[in-house]
Amino acid sequence: MKKHHYNPDSCTTCTACVVHCPVTQAVREFRGPKLAGPAGERFRLATDDYDAALEYCSNCKNCDISCPSRVPVSTLNMKARANYYKTHKQPFRDWMLSHSEQMAKMASLTPGLANMGMNNFLSKAVLKKLGISDKAPLPAYASQSFYKQFRKIKQQPQANKVVFYPGCFINYNQPEVGLDVVAVLQANQFEVIVPEEAVCCGSPLVVNGYLEEAEANARTNVGILAKYIEQGYPIITACTSCGLMLKQEYQELFELEDLDKVSSRIYDISEFLLELYDEGQLNTNFRKQTGNYLYHAPCHLRVQGIGKPSLELVRMLPGVEVTDADAGCCGISGNYGFKDDKYDIAMAVGSNLFETIKASGVTTVLSDCGTCRLQISHGAGVKTAHPISIVRAAYGK
Ligand code: SF4
Ligand code: SF4
Repeated sequence: MKKHHYNPDSCTTCTACVVHCPVTQAVREFRGPKLAGPAGERFRLATDDYDAALEYCSNCKNCDISCPSRVPVSTLNMKARANYYKTHKQPFRDWMLSHSEQMAKMASLTPGLANMGMNNFLSKAVLKKLGISDKAPLPAYASQSFYKQFRKIKQQPQANKVVFYPGCFINYNQPEVGLDVVAVLQANQFEVIVPEEAVCCGSPLVVNGYLEEAEANARTNVGILAKYIEQGYPIITACTSCGLMLKQEYQELFELEDLDKVSSRIYDISEFLLELYDEGQLNTNFRKQTGNYLYHAPCHLRVQGIGKPSLELVRMLPGVEVTDADAGCCGISGNYGFKDDKYDIAMAVGSNLFETIKASGVTTVLSDCGTCRLQISHGAGVKTAHPISIVRAAYGK
């Protein structure tokens, strides 16, 4: 994969990014990607200038998607934020949200208690004091992690093997999505390997300014995944933010050995299945089912430039109707919408999508990103599912 170039002078000031930045439209205080990103970078290179309004950037990447000059605006913003926090103290709230893996490991010891704790009035008041919104759709912890449940699966041994990187959200919050991925891969004669020694991809660390820790995570993950890639195994993800991080953001942010080798072998699960289809290798023995869905493409999928593979895949399933919502960002952008001072902005950003969903009359929305699913249920009052769950149902597994 080609590296993005960092010279802020490649910005031609066309303003396409400003038009497509959902946060600029929702909050006047934010100067927008053109000024916060490349223009601000010129000042930052020359002086210690730091625009406090940079905090409003959610790292949703709509600026990157729209930029005709391939300026990695969001990454410039995240790097500037991390530089600022080298000399300024981060709020404890940001530590909590960025260390979601450590928080989840602790909560997983007693998930029942942790969930009760997050949802009672007193804890919500404490979280609010820390700067986490008491209205935000915080995810519940699963009673058993994906790792734990995966160890109990008796897989059909296969010559073809793939590595599945579930990421923190699937592992600790929605393990059922990971189980669906394994079932679908088994239905296609693949044996699944899950490297439990891998760590959080680092996406929540990057957005909160913990770039050095994110780089350490990247080094660990690249080292682990490179060994599997050397054996010829592709790496599958089912969370678009983890996938983006492993495929693209590591490339933009860090210089690491084996990075090119790893990035080029990371596949979103639906992207992987569509490639099988193109090669005539996909098991298309789908059962007929009934379902009418709206599909929301996460921003972190759209920036990967691979189209909307899960939409194409679900459209192949007999009896399933699916319409692309095509209504922009849901607003949550990782943990951005959980923050008390960003909650209203996130809801304003997502309002177009919520209205589109409500007007459609569908009761279930499909999306490939876990936190998008949380925000959609919260903002539009509908059920949500990962598209791979609909594919699994079509296999009758
Ligand atoms: S990452 Fe999103 S919020 Fe930040 S500048 Fe780009 S479009 Fe705007
Ligand atoms: S879209 Fe790209 S080239 Fe245009 S103003 Fe934004 S950063 Fe500059």
